Amino acid sequence: MLLSRFPRIQLAHRKTPLERLPRLSKYLGGPNIYIKRDDCTGLGAGGNKTRKLEFLMADALLKNADTVITAGAIQSGHARQTAAAAAKLGLNCELVIVDDMLNPDSDYRESGNMLLDRLFGAKIRHCSGGADAATTMGQVADEIAASGGCPYVIPIGGSNAVGSLGYIDCAMELITQANEQQLPVDHVVHATGSGGTQAGLLMGLSALNCPVPVLGIGVSSPEQEQIEKVLRVVSEASQLLGEGNAPGRDNIAVNCNYIGEGYGIPTESMQEAVQIVSRLEGILLDPVYTGKAMAGLIDLVRKGHFNEDDNIVFVHTGGLPGLFAYRKHIFQHEPSAISSG
Ligand SMILES: *Cc1c(COP(=O)(O)O)cnc(C)c1O
Repeated sequence: MLLSRFPRIQLAHRKTPLERLPRLSKYLGGPNIYIKRDDCTGLGAGGNKTRKLEFLMADALLKNADTVITAGAIQSGHARQTAAAAAKLGLNCELVIVDDMLNPDSDYRESGNMLLDRLFGAKIRHCSGGADAATTMGQVADEIAASGGCPYVIPIGGSNAVGSLGYIDCAMELITQANEQQLPVDHVVHATGSGGTQAGLLMGLSALNCPVPVLGIGVSSPEQEQIEKVLRVVSEASQLLGEGNAPGRDNIAVNCNYIGEGYGIPTESMQEAVQIVSRLEGILLDPVYTGKAMAGLIDLVRKGHFNEDDNIVFVHTGGLPGLFAYRKHIFQHEPSAISSG
């Protein structure tokens, strides 16, 4: 697949490492677990949105934008990486922060990603609900245009056709690394939210003729809704690319059993997963996405969902600053014993 047809700006440190997690694999006594370190993309504390922003920001510059506008939750890593990319490129950044006032904790409201958004110089406005976010972004864009500026709106999570190109590229990078390392990958597992990461990975793998199953562990929506989100980005992206045989609904596997009470609400199994992976591998997961996705992977391994000699690649999508925002919700629950052997 020829991505070089599309404008792109280098923002990420690439390739991100593909590493084995020997102590986690041994602890679980099951399949071989590997990790694709997209937490190490480098821009403004890293994460998966940086790959999408390489294409989105290039598109914004092509359209002569002077301001990028996006939206997200208070602890949005997407908002943070967009603010960092804008700072690097000398663009203004307007963040519409969806603030449901459900969590009054000052760490949550002011630390973590929110602290970094401010450091990167983003202007922050609040809106009250998810449905409002698109409307508010439109209003902000109108205001900027009316005062002679040129706004560029990036949807929540950067999940549109242009953004998903970043994860088509990641799939190609992953398969090249797997070939170099002589690693026959049996499964790819990652956290899925707005759907662009899973859509891109599926499209990239399918274009390479590598039908490795991709399992998205949901963090926000029920299963059917999550599948729809991924499918929508797949079809937009296949239009952009002019691809005839894009992956269909049957190729989209999601598991939404590890969300708990809702998006961004801590679960016991998330806390266990965050502690296990940091203690055994020195790798930091986050409370909102990768902690819940790893909790899902750990539980599925324990339930025998995978074969013992499978090679599983967990795509670490980032989120580190969220740990500080949720510091009171990391050690409320501890795993029974993490052997140091
Ligand atoms: C946004 C995000 C995801 C989900 O990616 P989508 O493309 O929105 O599905 C996963 N992990 C982290 C840390 C994120 O910030």
